[in-house]
Amino acid sequence: MEIFAHALWATAVARTPVRVVAERVRWRWFALWAVSPDLFAFAPGVAVALWLRVFGVASPHHHGHHVLGIELYDPTHSLVVFAPLFAAVWLIRRRPAWCMLGWSLHILMDIPTHSAHFPTPFLWPLSSYRFIGISWAQWRFMAFNYSALGIVFFILWMYQRRKRLASRRACQSVPLSASPIPEGAGPRQSGGSSQD
Ligand SMILES: [Zn+2]
Repeated sequence: MEIFAHALWATAVARTPVRVVAERVRWRWFALWAVSPDLFAFAPGVAVALWLRVFGVASPHHHGHHVLGIELYDPTHSLVVFAPLFAAVWLIRRRPAWCMLGWSLHILMDIPTHSAHFPTPFLWPLSSYRFIGISWAQWRFMAFNYSALGIVFFILWMYQRRKRLASRRACQSVPLSASPIPEGAGPRQSGGSSQD
């Protein structure tokens, strides 16, 4: 899947009201981890290509940036690499870094959305098996993907709006019912002044 869809899906997952883990996961960090596999895999190549273009080298493909990108693609898209690193960070911090799960989400989303042209090496370096899925670049898939994202973000927005309105209503009703009435400030007991 492309990097913007990764960022949006990760944001949606991190902002969902359904809590899978006890800790609150910061959606910005979760989204950053979710785009990091493609950033690490492609940013060095893009940087080298720009550098060569700026300094007037005609064919950047002959200068190794392509190979660098391909080499980084395998480790950044492997669950075999992710799992021990996640465990190591857990051991060092003595608590899991849940936002790192954005990285695994990226790999899991890439597996079915990459075709034979660029399949995801999710078992690298243990196995060369790669699942042949549907290419995310097909316009039908892009239309479906962004429509689904639109629906999910609309539902999240509706939920947040309802929650905000409910808490505002609760705030408005609390002072009336919960404020203590000072002694002697209550309704006066008028002796015999009632107009029956
Ligand atoms: Zn990717």
